[in-house]
Amino acid sequence: MVEDVVKTLKVRIKKEVLTTRKKERLRRITGRDTRIIEKYVRIIHHNRRKICTKTKKGKIRVHRGKLDELTLTTSKVKEEERRKNVPHDLKKMFPYCSHNEFQECRDIAVQLYEQGYRPNNTRPPIKRARRQLINAKRFVLVHLPKEKNNTLTRWWVGIRDSLDTWKRNTPYHQKLWLPLEMSTFHQKELKKGRIKSLELRYKRSTLEWWVYFQLRVLPPPSFYPTKEKSSSSLPPAVLGIDLGINIPATGVLLTPKKKLTSKEIKFWYTKQWNRVNHRYKLKLSRLQRKAALNDQSGKKHQVYRFLSLLRRRYRNVKRAYIHQFISEVVQTIETYARMYDLFVVVGYPKHVREEKGKGKSTRKFRRKLHQWNFSLVLALLRRALILRGFEPHRILTIGERGTSSYCARCGRKVIRPVRGLVHCSSCNYTFHSDLTGAMNIARKFLGALFRPRGTTITDYLTGQRFSSSHFTVCRGLSHWLQSQ
Ligand SMILES: [Zn+2]
Repeated sequence: MVEDVVKTLKVRIKKEVLTTRKKERLRRITGRDTRIIEKYVRIIHHNRRKICTKTKKGKIRVHRGKLDELTLTTSKVKEEERRKNVPHDLKKMFPYCSHNEFQECRDIAVQLYEQGYRPNNTRPPIKRARRQLINAKRFVLVHLPKEKNNTLTRWWVGIRDSLDTWKRNTPYHQKLWLPLEMSTFHQKELKKGRIKSLELRYKRSTLEWWVYFQLRVLPPPSFYPTKEKSSSSLPPAVLGIDLGINIPATGVLLTPKKKLTSKEIKFWYTKQWNRVNHRYKLKLSRLQRKAALNDQSGKKHQVYRFLSLLRRRYRNVKRAYIHQFISEVVQTIETYARMYDLFVVVGYPKHVREEKGKGKSTRKFRRKLHQWNFSLVLALLRRALILRGFEPHRILTIGERGTSSYCARCGRKVIRPVRGLVHCSSCNYTFHSDLTGAMNIARKFLGALFRPRGTTITDYLTGQRFSSSHFTVCRGLSHWLQSQ
């Protein structure tokens, strides 16, 4: 089965060789929509009685057509159906913005409003990431060889300008040519896939514009080239992974051997992250309290600015840690995959969050504190493995329910004497709780395989179903299901 993956390639625009006119143009393209969105939100709020309805669940829905009637004049319909005057004529306020652009901004504003964003004079206006998505039809990427080009730049991207240019009273779209700083790495990456769309972004921190290419990449050839070869030459193994709190992930590898060795247990541990996370949390909560205080001293703008800055920095730091963590996990998986016909099963902790009220909540509560977006981590891990040639059925997520409260040896209910430990009274043995979790996840997967008939295994993350014929190799691992 082949599944394509979307990859992002970031290329800097050579700002130093841009002409003033182009800079102005770029500034308009990337900076304009935040102002229009803000305007839209204000118009929606002002006319909320007319254009908003409430659903049965109490959610607010904005009628887009009615909003258009308030804001946009029309010209492309019959003479008698034309709207010539509207109460809030956006075209008059932003004469260079085209009709399509307005509608894109409108959709974002409606989304924001429905999510609960309200215009507020004590708060600075929205500052969305300054970006502009451009689909494949609206740009061209050109490579000029040395002979044909006398400038230093070889790579140019031509974007159909979304701003209307007026010539003899009719609008038309010009092409805006932007020089790119394309390295050999970028060129290699570009060859791997097909460009789907691009995004123009302005980075406030460095005052530069970047082009983000969205590439549709076909995955490399399978990690295990042929089915026959893999099943005959390599023994099967299942790697169960439990995502945790203090320890981001724990892995247990179940092999045809009946005993677990220390090499088959793996803790992915980032002590530093816990400290960093804690520090950011503290700072953020302090600032949030400050922002919530009802003082009129006029410093609120400042507080909000710091808050958004800190949030962004926190998000970036978190992202960096997640990527580091994932690359470590992938490395381990690759070393295992060379020795075994490997299947990776990760526990999806959704149920754990839902069951917060039941029983002891320390573990669950602390899970929440960990604050890694589990589905993001899982999606990234899955993507990284697929890009390395693992088929989708080799990286599965399954529900974690019940995996942490049963003994990994005999399957009976366990008690937790201390946080982080699990004690089984029937086999008188004490385990690390995350280890038990990981082992039980792998066992749960095997258990699902050995159900009598009609078994399919559903991937929790994507909802894909796989018939048990994909996993026939795993039959050699059935001894892990019996109590030992
Ligand atoms: Zn036991």
